[in-house]
Amino acid sequence: MRRALRTAAVLAAAAVLFVILFSFLALPRGAVRLEPQGPWADLARRTVAGGYHVHTTRSDGAAGKPAIAAAAAGAGLQFVIFTDHGDATRPPDPPVYIEGVLCLDGVEISTADGHYVAIDMPQAPYPLGGTARAVAEDVARLGGFGIAAHPDSPKPELRWTDAAVPVDGFEWLNTDSEWRAASRGATARAALGYLVRPAAALASLLHRPVASLQRWDAMTRGRPVVGLAGLDAHGGIGRQADDGSRSNMPGVPRYRDSFRTFSDRVILDRPLSGDAQADARALYGSIRAGRVFTTIDVLAAPGLVSFDVDGPSGRAEMGGTLVAGSRGTIRADALVPRGATLVLVRDGQDLDPRIAAATAPSDGVLSLRVPVASGEGSYRAEVRLASAPGEPPLPWLVSNPIYFLRPAAPRPPPPVVAGEPIAGSSWHIEKDPGSSAILRTRDGRVEVEFALRSGDRANQFVAAATPLAPERRLTSIAFDAKASRPMRISVQLRFDRLPGAPRWGESVYVDQRSAPATVHAADLRPMQAGESAVPDTALAAALLCVVELTNTPPGRRGIFELSNVRVAR
Ligand SMILES: [Zn+2]
Ligand SMILES: [Zn+2]
Repeated sequence: MRRALRTAAVLAAAAVLFVILFSFLALPRGAVRLEPQGPWADLARRTVAGGYHVHTTRSDGAAGKPAIAAAAAGAGLQFVIFTDHGDATRPPDPPVYIEGVLCLDGVEISTADGHYVAIDMPQAPYPLGGTARAVAEDVARLGGFGIAAHPDSPKPELRWTDAAVPVDGFEWLNTDSEWRAASRGATARAALGYLVRPAAALASLLHRPVASLQRWDAMTRGRPVVGLAGLDAHGGIGRQADDGSRSNMPGVPRYRDSFRTFSDRVILDRPLSGDAQADARALYGSIRAGRVFTTIDVLAAPGLVSFDVDGPSGRAEMGGTLVAGSRGTIRADALVPRGATLVLVRDGQDLDPRIAAATAPSDGVLSLRVPVASGEGSYRAEVRLASAPGEPPLPWLVSNPIYFLRPAAPRPPPPVVAGEPIAGSSWHIEKDPGSSAILRTRDGRVEVEFALRSGDRANQFVAAATPLAPERRLTSIAFDAKASRPMRISVQLRFDRLPGAPRWGESVYVDQRSAPATVHAADLRPMQAGESAVPDTALAAALLCVVELTNTPPGRRGIFELSNVRVAR
């Protein structure tokens, strides 16, 4: 018996050793070191590598900023963008250099339609949350830059589901999504490989994120959307806030190993100065302009790319836009390892490889010159390596696009919704017993002074309500609104004759300046679980303007005023 056990133990140990040895041989040997020379040395100084989408102990990460900055420095990065979970009411930390690494503070906001990372944004006046549309609108108004995070996560509640939201950026790659999609066998091999070549083992779980690239390419046909690769680094798998179902295993993988797998590389006009404020401005400016690309550094580094279009109608750098129909020459140059293939991709499709692909005979600069007679859509560059992990293989370098777009039509003035006016005298207050509210109506204006019950969020509810004429379909609701401070009001239709009196609504932003708002019935979302499409609006019995509890904390007092309320039939 004892001998049998011993034999089993020896066999198990041999199997583990075999797998480790196998991983050692199968994983890419260290990164190919590239040598930028001549003009490429200047570009190398202006191209700064960083880790974007990183969590600290402020949310579900395993370490604080100083330790993470040290890990980034150890991995050769020059900046880190922290994206702790939050509602944007915490003032962002000012930019600061720690261990020579520029530390920038963003926030990852949970919306009803997925996670939205906001960077370069001041503190929000109220907690951001609710629908993706509302959050993206708030981020844009606050001057932030918003990025749809892990858009195709295998976990449905983490997916970015509202394709109509005009996001500024899009994570074409996200480590967390990739790991979740990996098979158990691949994960087990990576876990063993992590003991010998940690960053290569992490990268072995990555593959070409086909769905995310397709979605990004579809968006960029019509407007600029900046692609970024999100590390989603937590300093350990299974951290809690993103997903309570995962077991907690802090410390593996370490931040440093995540930072060594890939980076987002931002092209600046001049090298970083060491002044954190000025450098943050320059870095954010380039990210907003799309002068950023991703490289899988564990395969080869430093990746560099110069990508532009030059022609009679002007020149556009990576991230830039020319008018659709422009003529010019696409110039793509990249510093690549031997055997790499540089490819041009238009609207998600590889261009003809006979004119728009080249393979490097040795480490060095690879160039493509492709004439375009009448540019249309978005063009981006990819560099592919035979040694890349994944099936289909992960591209080693992904640029941002250059766009050929039709000039945006001048924004039409907000439509004047005629509609039937709703008399001020028809309004009343509806509220929960613990909250208080006073209704004042005069000259067609409806003013609500409210105080939400303090304590926990427990369906506090204050609304101005009015009955709707029965049996008449409505298409939109329009009004002018202002409030004593920035807030959101949820405009809702209630269907009293349907079981449970369900409500459908949409929130609008309101602040101290009176501004017009229009809510279209077709855009309303269910206020209760399990429902979806808006019922026939002829069945709506009441119109409610509700203090949006998502954005208004319990205990908050305030005043909002509606005027000129009308419904269009
Ligand atoms: Zn997330
Ligand atoms: Zn995250």
